[in-house]
Amino acid sequence: MKHFICKNCGEKVPLEAYGTKHRNHCPKCLYSLHVDVKKGDRDAECDGLMQPVGKFYKEDGEEVLVHKCIDCGFLRWNRVAGDDSFEAVAALPEVPDPR
Ligand SMILES: [Zn+2]
Ligand SMILES: [Zn+2]
Repeated sequence: MKHFICKNCGEKVPLEAYGTKHRNHCPKCLYSLHVDVKKGDRDAECDGLMQPVGKFYKEDGEEVLVHKCIDCGFLRWNRVAGDDSFEAVAALPEVPDPR
């Protein structure tokens, strides 16, 4: 199975997980990488570490993570994956919907 190594905590992360097709963040520390311009395209040249800065709730109650690139400040939001650390998600502050 394809995987990536988390640049923040070193966790070996399988790319496919329950509830997500384009996994782009670490289920353990929730950090992501700035690799996409549009979701899943892997076209960004930044490659910076993206820090989970908060979460918000969609109209249907789904929890969405907000990531911010440490290098360039790019903001992106991502669905919570089925195996993301519950404690890590719970520890994030709730932020206004950035969409
Ligand atoms: Zn990690
Ligand atoms: Zn960036």
